[in-house]
Amino acid sequence: MTGSLFALAACQSPSSETPWIVDRFDDVKVIRYEVPGFEQLPLDQKELVYYLAQAAKCGRDILFDQNCPMNLPVRRTLETLYEHYAGDRTAPEWLALEKYLKKVWFANGIHHHYSNDKFTPEFSELFLLEAIESIPEERFGAELNALRGDVCRAIFDPEAYPTRLNQRAGDDLLVTSSSNYYRGVTQAEAERFYAAMAAADAGNPEPVSYGLNSQLTKNDAGEIVERTWRVGGMYSAAIERIVYWLEKAAAVAAEPQKSNIEALVEYYRTGDLKCFDRYNIGWVKDTVSNVDFVNGFIEDYGDPLGRKASWEANVNFIDSSACHRTAVISENAQWFEDHSPVDPAYKKKEVRGVSAKVITVAMLGGDCYPATPIGINLPNADWIRKEHGSKSVTIDNITYAYDKAAQGSGFDREFVLRADDRERMAAYGKLADDLHTDLHECLGHGSGQLAPGVAGGELRSYSSTLEEARADLFGLYYLGDPKLVELGLTPSFDVARAGYAKYILNGLMTQLARIEPGKNVEESHMRNRQLIAAWCYEQGRADNVIEWVEEGGKRYVVVNDFEALRGLFGRLLREVQRIKSEGDYEAGKALVERYAVAVDPALHAEVRARYAALGIEPYGGFVNPEYEPVERDGRIVDVKIAYPADYAAQMMDYSKNYSFLPLVN
Ligand code: ZN
Repeated sequence: MTGSLFALAACQSPSSETPWIVDRFDDVKVIRYEVPGFEQLPLDQKELVYYLAQAAKCGRDILFDQNCPMNLPVRRTLETLYEHYAGDRTAPEWLALEKYLKKVWFANGIHHHYSNDKFTPEFSELFLLEAIESIPEERFGAELNALRGDVCRAIFDPEAYPTRLNQRAGDDLLVTSSSNYYRGVTQAEAERFYAAMAAADAGNPEPVSYGLNSQLTKNDAGEIVERTWRVGGMYSAAIERIVYWLEKAAAVAAEPQKSNIEALVEYYRTGDLKCFDRYNIGWVKDTVSNVDFVNGFIEDYGDPLGRKASWEANVNFIDSSACHRTAVISENAQWFEDHSPVDPAYKKKEVRGVSAKVITVAMLGGDCYPATPIGINLPNADWIRKEHGSKSVTIDNITYAYDKAAQGSGFDREFVLRADDRERMAAYGKLADDLHTDLHECLGHGSGQLAPGVAGGELRSYSSTLEEARADLFGLYYLGDPKLVELGLTPSFDVARAGYAKYILNGLMTQLARIEPGKNVEESHMRNRQLIAAWCYEQGRADNVIEWVEEGGKRYVVVNDFEALRGLFGRLLREVQRIKSEGDYEAGKALVERYAVAVDPALHAEVRARYAALGIEPYGGFVNPEYEPVERDGRIVDVKIAYPADYAAQMMDYSKNYSFLPLVN
């Protein structure tokens, strides 16, 4: 099937006058997102979204407590002040306290959500104590009053809980990390404990994810024990509410989803990780349900040992117009493979595209809120991925909201020199991004084959950068192919012009804004982008394909010849595929070390200064919509959606109505 999709993309635009950015503080902007298509869902699916959305809100406190055992007492103290403080709310110290609270809400705790460092308050301990004293004690309650000293220490003492996640080699990573996954247990003890568990299960082809859903601590007898997160265990009060809403969801869901939700409930009740695996297998096999969701202990990035999972939730449904786009790409997978500039020996003879799903998010919760990933690729258990596959989706309404929030930021005016580039980026930037992502995910990673005798893994520490480069180059090369116009996916080569200009600008310049002064490029996606952009700059230098221009004391990077640039993408794709196929470690290392790592300090400083002058916050997060069931004669007859635009009000509402845990767990 082919059809014109760029027209459909335009239909998404809601006719709303509300600004997309609803709040900004420190290094963060809070954006609202809309849920196109929700009103058109059939009633049972609207009801399902509503129940799953409720379940998604009920685990918020779990994440706060997982991130640091003092997070809930700190949050509750500041929220009580926020609600009842009668002093001058325009005074600088009060505004600093309010900003601190907004940061705590955003990070789900007192540590920065990205750097993991503890926030430094810009108000004094004396101010906090006086503000607390000005409010009747009973507003705080006896439990919180008793914790006041600990709350002050957590906020003001730089020695207390300094980092959420310490990964410095040589340290005891558990003792020096402030997260609450391990209590009173050393790294060596934890490693021994889980090594023994794995040894006892050695040879099992279907191992559970040991330790995924528990805190590791010691009992009164000094023995190491797991406190499992389940009904009747740790975090029970919140999990009971999650289960309550999941059961309502199961009652309106159709098979196979109904059984899957029931399996998840069983897991929450028992804490048995085998149930979790059963649920995941059912979930990954369910490709028919329009409404889908994530709810549970999923990602282990917050545990220095990569074992314990933070609680997160997401409710979504399929974006059918965008899925059409990936289906078209996927159906033509063999054509793309056959026509790629890669050495024929390293092409797949038979390639199957992955039809990546594009979804519309309806609710974010836990570790997906307010900051959220823009894609989902689950489950995480290796053997389930191998045996049963995985689900990979991209979230269109979130990227759409990011894009909207970025417009009007002054970014284009500051960094894009030529008006025709700016116009093309405004018209086609989002479509170019989407198609590039689709090609990268649906085809890029799956393309190519290894030479006989090459096992994979030869590229070692350079493999992820080179793998991302391979997939990105595949996407970039085909973004400019006439085939996309023929398939009805793009109106013209202008989409590629927009995408190429943006990619080169980002890779050579603007992504430096996210790197701390004095540091090099470390993260593999960022390395990959710099590798591609810097290589193409150098290789095209004789023909002036990409050019540095200085104007008014500012540097700009411009693409002069888009067709030639496409040719360079093809050449580099051929070489990166060769490196992978032959397992040529030395060549891979040379490429990455030469082009991807080093930062020009003067350019870095200039980019950061120009970013700072624009006041663009490097991090973004979201406020959720709200769902209100409409009842008649005790039955839900409709679910209304509303788009609140007040970040603090939403946080206070969640803390009031979806806060179930005691202060200390
Ligand atoms: Zn990738």
